[in-house]
Amino acid sequence: MVDSTPRQRNRTEMLRLIRAGQGVTRADLARSTGLSRSAVQAIVSGLLSESQVSELEVEEKGPGTGSGRPGTLLVAVGDPVAGIDFGHNHLHVAIADSFGRLIGDRRIEIDVDLAAEEAMNAAAELLSTLRAEHDVTRLQAVAAGIPGPVDLASGLVQSPTILSGWVGLSPATELGRRIGVPVRIENDAALGALGELYGGAGRNHRDFLYVKASHGIGASLVLGGDLYRGGTGLAGEIGHTHLGGRTELCRCGNRGCLEAVVSVAAVIDQIAHTHPGGDRAAITLESFTDPITERILHESGRILGQVVSDLCNLVNPTAVIIGGELGAAGEAFVQGAEQAIRRYAQPATAAALVVRAAELGNRAELHGALALAARALV
Ligand SMILES: [Zn+2]
Repeated sequence: MVDSTPRQRNRTEMLRLIRAGQGVTRADLARSTGLSRSAVQAIVSGLLSESQVSELEVEEKGPGTGSGRPGTLLVAVGDPVAGIDFGHNHLHVAIADSFGRLIGDRRIEIDVDLAAEEAMNAAAELLSTLRAEHDVTRLQAVAAGIPGPVDLASGLVQSPTILSGWVGLSPATELGRRIGVPVRIENDAALGALGELYGGAGRNHRDFLYVKASHGIGASLVLGGDLYRGGTGLAGEIGHTHLGGRTELCRCGNRGCLEAVVSVAAVIDQIAHTHPGGDRAAITLESFTDPITERILHESGRILGQVVSDLCNLVNPTAVIIGGELGAAGEAFVQGAEQAIRRYAQPATAAALVVRAAELGNRAELHGALALAARALV
């Protein structure tokens, strides 16, 4: 449906904000839309009388209540939604109610890169198990994130060099067929940014950079309060930025790419190298907390931060939010990134910046998928 009047557009935008958030106040809506309190009140009254939204009394300060006093949150009414997060090495599936509150989730380890069909079968099965567990017979919408570039127009996985097992596939069509509900597909870093925008460290920022630092490195931009996808949906592929003087082999066919030097696997290789005698396969980012491991994480963060500092000069964000498994691995990695950003970005740009770990940790992508599924309804 085309929104023909400003009032209809405002109504759609407010419903979108209510559905994507985990409860918002009338004041939040006025701030986000730029509308007057009375205009917001008129539209909210309409939505309440149509049973599109309902009111939720809250006792304590929480996201969206702002004042610290008891308040009234507006929440969307409807069937549950589902989110799917495909990582390079894992699959995470969740169901949330129409208020955006998590009903349940399940995570398995799986090699997503090489086995697209198997990964999509596993996602459909896992979601089906989760629905049975929680007695969810109907889903309103599903959104899924994949760790590679998705063409905005065609919905096809685009790059022959990243996520090679998925190239030419339409995950939305394939997953939709398996699940029986329309599926929206998005790049995983974009979902991480949405997760942080609506329910994490990005709540108070309209211009920020989200970096997913995990088995690969991806970034996503939120500009003016909205996700920026680029001309064809491929913005933020910073993992293959060339690092001068580095020669590490990258899966994309080049040498010295950022994600060949900074990734979970590269960090674990270094940890294994400095802690000989153990089983490489058993080492995780959490295995050691000694100064050597801290130094490895700090240095990896610093290398990432140097690349990100150039982006800060270009975009002038007010926050850099670092997610993924490395973002959640402890303070050393994020501190290393912050140090390099403050060192290499222009001083005035750096002064306006907050650099921090994702508030939702490595669940940001999953929560972003749930937010996108809810957003897709309006
Ligand atoms: Zn590369």
